[in-house]
Amino acid sequence: MATTELKSAKYIFVTGGVTSSLGKGIIASSLAKLLQSRGLSVTIQKFDPYINIDPGTLNPYEHGECYVTDDGAETDLDLGHYERFLNRPTSQANNITTGRIYNNVITRERRGDFLGKTVQVIPHITDEIKRNFRLQDNGDYDIIITEIGGCVGDIESLPFVEAVRQLKFELGEHDTLVIHLTLIPYLKSAGELKTKPTQHSVRMLLENGVQPDIIVCRTEHPLPMDIRKKIALFCNVQVNSVIEAIDAETIYDVPLLMQKERLDQRALYMLDIYNDKDADLDAWKSFLGRLKNPGNDVRIGLVGKYVELKDAYKSIAEAFIHAGAENECKVKLEWIQSETLVNEHHCRETLRELDGILVAPGFGERGIDGKINAVRFARENGIPFLGICLGMQMAVIEYARNVMGIEHAHSTEMEPNTDAPVISMMEDQKKVVDMGGTMRLGAYTCKIKRDSLAHNIYGKTQISERHRHRYEFNNDYLNAFERAGLRATGINPDTGLVEIVELNNHPWYVGVQFHPELKSTVKQPHPLFVSFVKAALTYSQQERRSEVVQTAHVEAAEAVD
Ligand code: GLN
Repeated sequence: MATTELKSAKYIFVTGGVTSSLGKGIIASSLAKLLQSRGLSVTIQKFDPYINIDPGTLNPYEHGECYVTDDGAETDLDLGHYERFLNRPTSQANNITTGRIYNNVITRERRGDFLGKTVQVIPHITDEIKRNFRLQDNGDYDIIITEIGGCVGDIESLPFVEAVRQLKFELGEHDTLVIHLTLIPYLKSAGELKTKPTQHSVRMLLENGVQPDIIVCRTEHPLPMDIRKKIALFCNVQVNSVIEAIDAETIYDVPLLMQKERLDQRALYMLDIYNDKDADLDAWKSFLGRLKNPGNDVRIGLVGKYVELKDAYKSIAEAFIHAGAENECKVKLEWIQSETLVNEHHCRETLRELDGILVAPGFGERGIDGKINAVRFARENGIPFLGICLGMQMAVIEYARNVMGIEHAHSTEMEPNTDAPVISMMEDQKKVVDMGGTMRLGAYTCKIKRDSLAHNIYGKTQISERHRHRYEFNNDYLNAFERAGLRATGINPDTGLVEIVELNNHPWYVGVQFHPELKSTVKQPHPLFVSFVKAALTYSQQERRSEVVQTAHVEAAEAVD
């Protein structure tokens, strides 16, 4: 068969059972890390069963953060984990949804490609899924890990599981491996770990014609040998293919836990890959050492409107973990609902103990006054400030209103008829009608001015960062801002769009139109986050900080009087 001739990579599929949120993405990333550290070339891709073409149009409350790749794909947040663990960029091909599969098939049907045939789930949809499973099999990778979103047994996952069955059959025993991640709950009243849900979920896979090769068991307690044997017996696997995945202190522990359980060895053995290299995890371990033995604490406020769902800011939170470890300090993130920062008094109450303030990305009207108030508090009190995307736009508006006296300064996103559109829709966005995949997305070059904090931080004059926005700094106001002290220190060389703003008379104040958090990895913590945390650390140790706090106390006392 043609597919077999093309073969060069081996395939590992990761399915999930019993419940969602077991951490398939982390298990897949951890296995990939272990294989990579043995010198193998690995990528991970995620297949999601929902009908949206991509998660770009989904509300963060539904789906958490939308992760953007260099090539401008709006993807699942698990791709962020893949990049952070492997330190390799992912692309559009790494995240495929049911919607995209159907869209491709229907587009071909409309073109007449099926020559009068009835188009069906099997074989047409499953063929398209298999084609997409293999899209990255171009000789670059020894192993391609595919995470199947959702749970086995879901109606919408069926075509993916069926495609796995077919590919396993076509490629043969040693070229595909199915890892099933499941939950072993602990029943307190019985004092026992229970294997029945796992037995059922494996049975469900078997009904679909897929025998899992390895079972990874999420558990709160260690799995004793008798439980492992029971799972092996009922699920038709060898006992050393039952892997314990015990709850970890941090997701970055999981590769080491999986190594201890020999998940990588087992996978290599079953895929018939000879590799006697010891996994080189020295750098990873030294990162973990720094992460777990921090010196000081710094408190950084993340001001956003989706703070009830921390997954909405996943990459920012992870970038702080990397930057904290780099600075050998613990970053304590305070999640602040921007809607609560209604005036200066509330800002003082909420923000005065912080060592740094980050104003988060976002869309729409809700909570923006609070964001503007938070920027002002950081600016006026010399507290290190980082504004990302909408956060940068709010910093520009704050400066225009409170320093330059442009009272009605606004973004046309919130106030389309404002007479002072300091942030306005990009020209090429004005003709856009569709919402999906039409923002300014992906990596763009930015030129950095030499005499700037940004230059100091990056140590170079040309960078590339990822974007996801429709609105932008309005260059009609550029000169006025520069004269008033807010400098544009990073500019896109092709379009002239402002990418970075900063303030000179402030210890650390940076607004960026791009999303630096998307490029922070364990191996390469992002320089902006590293520098921001460093500034917060310095600030926490300064006298000026105690002055802010003291003033706040006096004012609070006066307010009470
Ligand atoms: N809503 C703003 C825009 O579209 C900012 C987007 C963001 O923060 N990602 O330009």
